[in-house]
Amino acid sequence: MTSTGSCLCGGVKYVVEGPLRPVVYCHCEQCRKTSGHHVAATAAPRGKVKISGEVRWFRSSATARRGFCPTCGGNLFWDGPGENISIMAGTLDDSSGLHAIGHIFVADKAGYMEICDGLAQALQDDDAITTTVT
Ligand SMILES: [Zn+2]
Ligand SMILES: [Zn+2]
Repeated sequence: MTSTGSCLCGGVKYVVEGPLRPVVYCHCEQCRKTSGHHVAATAAPRGKVKISGEVRWFRSSATARRGFCPTCGGNLFWDGPGENISIMAGTLDDSSGLHAIGHIFVADKAGYMEICDGLAQALQDDDAITTTVT
């Protein structure tokens, strides 16, 4: 299985070999501030993700950085501890095979955001949600 994706302007493209993690919604403040809302992120082992084009990396914490396109501002990657790199699912060219499994950092969610999809919710991080690969 091969998946492809890009930012809005096409300046950054990526190819993922192999399966993608189901989508996790992250409501943390950092995701809200970089995306304007919560993010929907899939993930894959770092070695399976080939990125082309110029990515600007923002060091968002002591242990993580966020990758975006310096031309269009598209929010593409979260690269933190662990073997996976997170990929913003909306940047995939075709996400039809993916499904969402839960919400994390619900304690930080926007006041207007009402979660009513019945999926699992974690107040902060939750390994049971974020490391699940199907
Ligand atoms: Zn771009
Ligand atoms: Zn987040």
